[in-house]
Amino acid sequence: MSDIRVSCPQCRLDALPDTLHCPGCQEDLAALAHLVYRGRISYNTGLTHARNGDHTRARAALERAVQEEPDLTPAWLLLGKIAAHQGDAPRAHEALTRAAALDPADPTIQAALSALTATP
Ligand SMILES: [Zn+2]
Repeated sequence: MSDIRVSCPQCRLDALPDTLHCPGCQEDLAALAHLVYRGRISYNTGLTHARNGDHTRARAALERAVQEEPDLTPAWLLLGKIAAHQGDAPRAHEALTRAAALDPADPTIQAALSALTATP
């Protein structure tokens, strides 16, 4: 999770990665960083449940993940796949469309979206 980046809401500067303080105003941005991390933690939880075949728990964790971090493309993708697997086409379509909007070049997302629209 070293790719986590938070920026100061006031200065728009990225927090220093070692201290999570704003280099401008010295504000402690750790709480903000924790919010960003929460989405990834929920995503990882969802991934684990999905691998164990527990789609109900996986979906709950992923719904949480996309709420906590709305730009978390892999969470939208996995949520879409699980919703499709559960027969919830509207939510699957919504999630995969969101993933595709975030990362239009990802062939995995396009394939999942095509598979969904091809399903009667
Ligand atoms: Zn600042």
